[in-house]
Amino acid sequence: MSSGRVWLATFLVWMLIGVCFKGWCAASERNTIRVGLLRFYKGAQSVTLSSDSGLTVTDATGRELISCEPEAVVVLSAEGGVLTIRSGLDVLSEAGSFVTASPRRPTSTVRIETLRQPVREYRGRIEVRPKACGLLLVNVVSVEDYLLGVVSAEMPSSYPDEAIKAQAVTARTYALRNRGKHASDGFDLCDTSNCQIYGGVSVEADRSTAAVRSTLGTVLFHDGRLAHVMYTSDCGGVTQDPSEMRPNSKFPYLRSVTEPPEMPQSSWEALFTLQDVRDKLIAAGVKQAAGLTGIRASKLGASGRVLEFEITTDSGATSISGTKLRSALGVNVIKSLLLSVEKTLGGTILFRGKGSGHGIGLCQVGAKWFASPPRNWNYTQILAYYFPGTEIVVLQPYDSSARTTRTSDQFVCPERKVETKSVPPGPAESGDRVGIELELRLNAPRGL
Ligand SMILES: [Zn+2]
Repeated sequence: MSSGRVWLATFLVWMLIGVCFKGWCAASERNTIRVGLLRFYKGAQSVTLSSDSGLTVTDATGRELISCEPEAVVVLSAEGGVLTIRSGLDVLSEAGSFVTASPRRPTSTVRIETLRQPVREYRGRIEVRPKACGLLLVNVVSVEDYLLGVVSAEMPSSYPDEAIKAQAVTARTYALRNRGKHASDGFDLCDTSNCQIYGGVSVEADRSTAAVRSTLGTVLFHDGRLAHVMYTSDCGGVTQDPSEMRPNSKFPYLRSVTEPPEMPQSSWEALFTLQDVRDKLIAAGVKQAAGLTGIRASKLGASGRVLEFEITTDSGATSISGTKLRSALGVNVIKSLLLSVEKTLGGTILFRGKGSGHGIGLCQVGAKWFASPPRNWNYTQILAYYFPGTEIVVLQPYDSSARTTRTSDQFVCPERKVETKSVPPGPAESGDRVGIELELRLNAPRGL
């Protein structure tokens, strides 16, 4: 081969490598998700970062600002809306308004520590921006690694494997469908129950990790796009159709499902004095509650949840929504709106209820029951039960490129693997009941 041909061949090989590498990077970026770390770091004035492989800190242009040794710490603080970086004896003031801290070894993790929080660990990289109220930390992480810190946080790892797999598929579908939900805040999803609880490596559990890994790329589709899924900790025996409260929230696979009567149900009670209820309602902005004399459930939804309460006062009666009352009295006390109200002889008000949470979609304790002996349902059966009419799709190759859109059009599914859903005989789904109001994760206030 002549020297000219050698050079040409070498040039073409490098071009090919360059194209492939660029393509690989692009695909890799598309498979990441940007998670706003609000639960522990919202408003933090200073954070300390480190990694067992060392950290590299770059600015908005990708220029390297600092590269430190394994275990060395980098302190980032917001001073006057500008980032200041301290690493050893080096102080970089006016580092700009955006930096990224990446572990030197991509498979390593970043540890975050603040004055008020213990050390927590995250896969991927951490972006830091100064905001008016302090620092905003965003964890840029692969979708699959993100799920490791979600599934373990959202469902006990002691649950049966197939229940955890059902949770993993639901959480993955939620993440991809809602990617970009917080686009105006500078990230895709937050790490609170507003989106999905995410705790990073610090909360990962082996059985949850196994469930995520074994369902790689598996999501729920309906009508050719990602399904609009939700999940709830305990539906109290009957799930809720979100359209009962919001007519526009009609999804054929989110209709109310009544669980088998033999399934054990949890119950709870909450006792309040009239004065307690009055004070909490007033504190929540219900000024009419000043002369409160009584309260009753005045409008029930299809699943039996309270849509509206009527509060009687010295000057008449008025209505408040179920979610408003639940929020005012405490969502951890009034655990669900599947409840009854009793006024006792002593002038107190007793709420008796079943279940916990909004009651929409996958019921986690129900999934646990179905996956347990002697039923032994697998995760596809569980998902088909709570999301009837959806299909299970395995994204191959796993290319989740839709960052800000909520449609599935940009998903690449060259080999759609649709699994057969054989639902074991079960109870009929609930019939045509009417309305309920509740908190919807998607409609809850944003974290920022
Ligand atoms: Zn959120």
